[in-house]
Amino acid sequence: MNFTSRIRRTDYIVIGSGVAGLRAAIELAKFGRVLVVTKDKPSESSTEYAQGGVAVAMSDDDEVRIHYSDTLRAGDGLCRSEAVQTLVGEGPDRITELIDWGTQFDKKGFSLAFTQEAAHSRRRILSAKGDSTGKEIERSLLRKVRSFKNVTRYSHSCTVDLIVENNICTGVLLVRGDELIACYARAVVLSTGGAGRLFSRTTNPPVATSDGIAMGYRAGAMVEDMEFVQFHPTSLFVPGSPQFLLSEAMRGEGAVLKNRSGKRFMGRYHPDAELAPRDVVCRAILSEMVRTRTKYVHLDLTHMKPAYIKKRFPRIYSTCLSFDIDITKEPIPVSPAAHYIMGGIKTNINGESSLKGLFAAGEVACTGIHGANRLASNSLLEGLVFGARAGQAAARYAEGVSLPEKLKRITYPDTYEIPEEKTEKIQSSLRQIMWQKVGIIRCEKSLLQAQQKLAAWKHLLSAPLFTRRELELKNMLTTAHLIMTSALLRQNSVGAHYRSDFKEKSKGWRRHIRIKN
Ligand SMILES: Cc1cc2nc3c(=O)[nH]c(=O)nc-3n(C[C@H](O)[C@H](O)[C@H](O)COP(=O)(O)OP(=O)(O)OC[C@H]3O[C@@H](n4cnc5c(N)ncnc54)[C@H](O)[C@@H]3O)c2cc1C
Repeated sequence: MNFTSRIRRTDYIVIGSGVAGLRAAIELAKFGRVLVVTKDKPSESSTEYAQGGVAVAMSDDDEVRIHYSDTLRAGDGLCRSEAVQTLVGEGPDRITELIDWGTQFDKKGFSLAFTQEAAHSRRRILSAKGDSTGKEIERSLLRKVRSFKNVTRYSHSCTVDLIVENNICTGVLLVRGDELIACYARAVVLSTGGAGRLFSRTTNPPVATSDGIAMGYRAGAMVEDMEFVQFHPTSLFVPGSPQFLLSEAMRGEGAVLKNRSGKRFMGRYHPDAELAPRDVVCRAILSEMVRTRTKYVHLDLTHMKPAYIKKRFPRIYSTCLSFDIDITKEPIPVSPAAHYIMGGIKTNINGESSLKGLFAAGEVACTGIHGANRLASNSLLEGLVFGARAGQAAARYAEGVSLPEKLKRITYPDTYEIPEEKTEKIQSSLRQIMWQKVGIIRCEKSLLQAQQKLAAWKHLLSAPLFTRRELELKNMLTTAHLIMTSALLRQNSVGAHYRSDFKEKSKGWRRHIRIKN
């Protein structure tokens, strides 16, 4: 493909338009021109599909300090307390602001309705339209962003790499239609979301290919804790269908897990049964699947009132019905799937990465709030709190930065095109390898086997690729390497990282694993 190359300058670039990117853009719009770049349509993001809700200590029987200790407990000893304090402490203000901007959370009478989720010791989850919380948050943030005249949005534009000059991030190279654009800015905020698509079973949408983590790493930013990938215990298991998420809130409201013989089994694995931490529930399901020789278990809510199920989980009810499963009458076949990455570009509580000029917020970042395992429903709040903070810090940083008069045009060598069917094939093999060898249960042998397979595609990492699919593949290969390397280095089992050859928290488990290019 031949591109026309051009240069563009602005004050701030935000890459990604999920909760974190939009919240950062709203902050930055107070200070200058903002360009928001998204590789798909504006709303396409994990945020759009978030169901259960957003955790915040705002109910009468809750306190910030209780939300703080629940988050630390889920993080299994590896949370950064300053970051958690910031999340739970600033959460109520960010939610109040969101309500002022028109977000309609579900109510009980005139008051906000709070629901329960696993590992939360209080009812503190706010939902919207039952199980469409992310969609409602995305809608109201997009509306707010659209109200600023100085915010330009580039959708269907895919980033190639960050531009780095003298160890400072000064912009991003992107492909928009047949244009290759070198966009320069005084500061760049990465908010590209997670990495679920690296695994063959995932709840994440197709955009979640870890582009920001890979680009940040290539540009020289430090990445941290990449071995911590959270798997969600309950995604719909219907061969050929997407692995639609069945929210934690269903178990919070009383749904139970049953094996092939129709027997509940979680009580044998953990005293909290269905409300045990996600990694425990995932391993229990895997073990039950092996024991009963099935590829799934059942999530059963048939003991609950049909009218309540339809009102509380309307999206889940209608999606399952489209696969001929009436959840009010029959149990749902489920199995685990990759859901959230706790690791990412290392930042402080202001979203500053180790690379000057580059800020990161949301799932792409590792602030340390999730430690080794994320507490359910903390990530939408993370996007709001740290998106706003990254925006403020980027604006402060940019006060002392001015772009040179003459900006460098970037010309690229002849493109290296991989036939589309080959891209698909490599992606699919990679996703299988990640699921089988680097998934819920890992060991040195499986990780080394995965690394060996990855080596066959090494040449693609330095190839000049330009189509969205090729770029995503390159980023997925880069991030897969980071996850495998970190998982090998962590010779113990902590939080979501489970090594069958090191089942305990052995010596040195408290350290964080950091990698720099
Ligand atoms: C099915 C599902 C249910 C969930 N439920 C909940 C829940 O109930 N509560 C909760 O707290 N969390 C939930 N989560 C997690 C939560 O939704 C995400 O962690 C959070 O929304 C991430 O927000 P983000 O802004 O960091 O990224 P995202 O919302 O994923 O946004 C990323 C953005 O970056 C863009 N992008 C990516 N790569 C590029 C590129 N190379 N160039 C340009 N743009 C790019 C994408 O197009 C997108 O706009 C759920 C996740 C999923 C998948």
